[in-house]
Amino acid sequence: MTRLWCAQAWVGGGWAPGVLLEADAQGRWARIEFDTEAPEDDTPQWECVVPGLVNAHSHAFQRTMATLAERQDPNRPGDDFWGWRERMYQVALRIGPQALEIAAEWLYREMLQAGFTQVCEFHYLHRAPDGSEYPDGDLLSLVLARAAARAGIGLTLLPTLYLHRGFGQPGLSEAQRRFAHTAEGLLRTQARLQALAQSEGRAHLLNAGLALHSLRAVDAQSLRAVAQGLGEAPLHIHVAEQTREVDDCLQHLGQRPVQWLLDQIGLDARWNLVHATHTQAEELAGIAQAGAAVVLCPSTEANLGDGLFDLPTALSHGVNWSIGTDSHVNRHPALELQWLEYGQRLHLRQRNLAARHAQAHSTAAVLFEGALRGGSAASGQALAGFEIGQRADAVALDTHNTPLLGVPPNHWLDAWVMGQPALPAAQVWVAGQAVDPHPSEDLRESWIEVMRGLWE
Ligand SMILES: [Zn+2]
Repeated sequence: MTRLWCAQAWVGGGWAPGVLLEADAQGRWARIEFDTEAPEDDTPQWECVVPGLVNAHSHAFQRTMATLAERQDPNRPGDDFWGWRERMYQVALRIGPQALEIAAEWLYREMLQAGFTQVCEFHYLHRAPDGSEYPDGDLLSLVLARAAARAGIGLTLLPTLYLHRGFGQPGLSEAQRRFAHTAEGLLRTQARLQALAQSEGRAHLLNAGLALHSLRAVDAQSLRAVAQGLGEAPLHIHVAEQTREVDDCLQHLGQRPVQWLLDQIGLDARWNLVHATHTQAEELAGIAQAGAAVVLCPSTEANLGDGLFDLPTALSHGVNWSIGTDSHVNRHPALELQWLEYGQRLHLRQRNLAARHAQAHSTAAVLFEGALRGGSAASGQALAGFEIGQRADAVALDTHNTPLLGVPPNHWLDAWVMGQPALPAAQVWVAGQAVDPHPSEDLRESWIEVMRGLWE
């Protein structure tokens, strides 16, 4: 596509009629006109078009265990996050490069079908299943980059530092042997990925930041080395997902995790704090003041029994936030946004909480705009919607299908974000190009083989 005409397009937080979008050769929006008539040439025309969203937190290999940890283990009464993690390690220890590439392409295509056009991959599987280094230590990073390129989704790769099994416990456990890497090595990987994207002319579709697995997995010295060595790229970290993690942090570092980061490291706009579930009001105010952001993964946080993020306080302070599907029990942006709002409604026994605490009118608009702006920051890419210079990503929605069918156009976003069943994209564009996210028959077969290999 170089041009696209929308009877209604979601622009700057509201619907605009008769929008003509035009992308340049670099895949950026170069011209946006309003109140235009439908062109009579062969410009594609759609009734309802929204910007693509960023999936700001993904562990692609976990797609292979989505819905396969939903049974109570009789040997483990009181199932929780830590029990789930044991099962997750079983997959992490088995999946090889080829299976990872297939699973990632399968997953990234599912994301595109749902309306995500960019994914931030929090990637900590670095070594071979036996714990040895691959001849090319960046093999699995390159595998993920290839899978994203084949699917047609934009990728922010976040090679992840994982050094310690827990607070005050040096080294990794046997089950964590594939996660081993060094701060210096990861900085080299990040620079290599950036150079690769540049040399292939794909820097608008592939970029790299870094991630720190969590405060329990890194020490202050390595954390500072990464933060100082990284430059302007995004920096992600799991933080305060579990109450036990907060307790351990208090015991070993003397402060709550986010407070420690604020005081001892200093946060800035590069920082994306993933989950931040058990974060207090002062910490949320500190995140907002620092210009840092949180990455919320409501369906995974619900699935793992993590707890509930304090969305009202975060919105009141103007904390930037994005969404991620994390463990991929869900892969649809609308369901993440629904979970985000519904968790608060169940807890506080009120309605339209995101809208109220953002001092806005529409719940869907607050949720969509938050995810859009925050996702752009989390990915380090220009993905903030239909504005000149932003990457030309767009998602057309089928207004002749449930849940949009029969809904007045000014409620289409409410229907897409809050409606059921979650509506897939009718057409997706990434960087100005139409993408067909549906898997080939070969990929379907390969995915089935991967699952059989892991689970039979
Ligand atoms: Zn995660």
